[in-house]
Amino acid sequence: LTYPQGMVAPTPRPALAGIPVYRAGRPAADPASKLSSNELPFDPLPGVLDRAVAELRHVNRYPDAGCTALTTALAGHHEVDPDRIAIGTGSVAVLYALLSAFCGPGDEVVLPWRSFEAYPIAVELTGAAGVRVPVGADGTHDLAGMAAAITPRTRAVLVCTPNNPTGPVVTADELASLVAAVPPSVLLVVDEAYVEFVTDPAAASGPDWLDRENVVVLRTFSKAHGLAALRVGYALAHAPVAEAVRKVLPPFGVSDVAQAAAIASLESLDAMGERVAAVVAERDAVVAGLRGQGWDVPQAQGNFVWLPLGAEAVEFAAAAQPLSVRAFAGEGVRVTIGLPEVNEQFLATTRRWRTGS
Ligand code: PMP
Repeated sequence: LTYPQGMVAPTPRPALAGIPVYRAGRPAADPASKLSSNELPFDPLPGVLDRAVAELRHVNRYPDAGCTALTTALAGHHEVDPDRIAIGTGSVAVLYALLSAFCGPGDEVVLPWRSFEAYPIAVELTGAAGVRVPVGADGTHDLAGMAAAITPRTRAVLVCTPNNPTGPVVTADELASLVAAVPPSVLLVVDEAYVEFVTDPAAASGPDWLDRENVVVLRTFSKAHGLAALRVGYALAHAPVAEAVRKVLPPFGVSDVAQAAAIASLESLDAMGERVAAVVAERDAVVAGLRGQGWDVPQAQGNFVWLPLGAEAVEFAAAAQPLSVRAFAGEGVRVTIGLPEVNEQFLATTRRWRTGS
């Protein structure tokens, strides 16, 4: 008996060597104080919860692997053919599947930075290289810089609007220019995880570009729909792209509990809209409060605000306790909009920080 590979332990692919495990927002002793994961601060809508709970009776059975009813509901919602939809366990899983379907060693993916923490991980897991194009001092994408970073090796360009963690949107005009600049063979991924919170009339809308075969729009039920723990997200794409994603996604990932909740949430858009409006009103009040205190905060179009604290980011996060906020060392702090009293607490923290008292 021979051991052709020698007596060595299994090693992961070299591509994994420099990749960190995804770092999640810190929990807080009181869940209402957790402002570190851009969650909705409200309990699930009763009707949505009831429909999800009812599905628990069938957990001896595998879920509907094709997410048939949810796909139909989303197709109706977006007015697209069902074959243009790929549903996974959160939009992050859909992104991982998309990138592993289209990218590999030697390829490049252009992405904004600082942006969503999972982007470089998702890219580098495929063996491709992430080409990070810094966002501007105002937290906006440098779309000209991103277009200029495209090479013959580029397989995808990622756009995050509103950008997590800095907050601003990509405008419709900017996205139009980028669509024109990205070759048709290169995926243009528009991540709209926070789109429901957008109030800027100039903001881009990814679905407007779905006539392009290379455009992919990512959406999630984790944010405005308030279903983060149930893990449902999806891509809207050209049918062959959506099919490639469905091939890569693990079978039976999205439970019937999650599918039922997502469908119920799509049927409760008025109630969802009221909650989103409440968060938006709080967000705008927090931004106004911060600016009143002298903070230079960028446009906030998601359910979070960005404090560009630079070297003081980690120290601020420690001072904010018991509130749990998300520090990006050397860059800034992202703070999710919570319930009104918690937002007041946050504004008291920022006031103390500035006045040193
Ligand atoms: N995209 C962005 C920009 C995000 O901020 C997040 C969540 N933090 C996601 C995608 C992933 O959301 P989910 O996997 O829960 O759908």
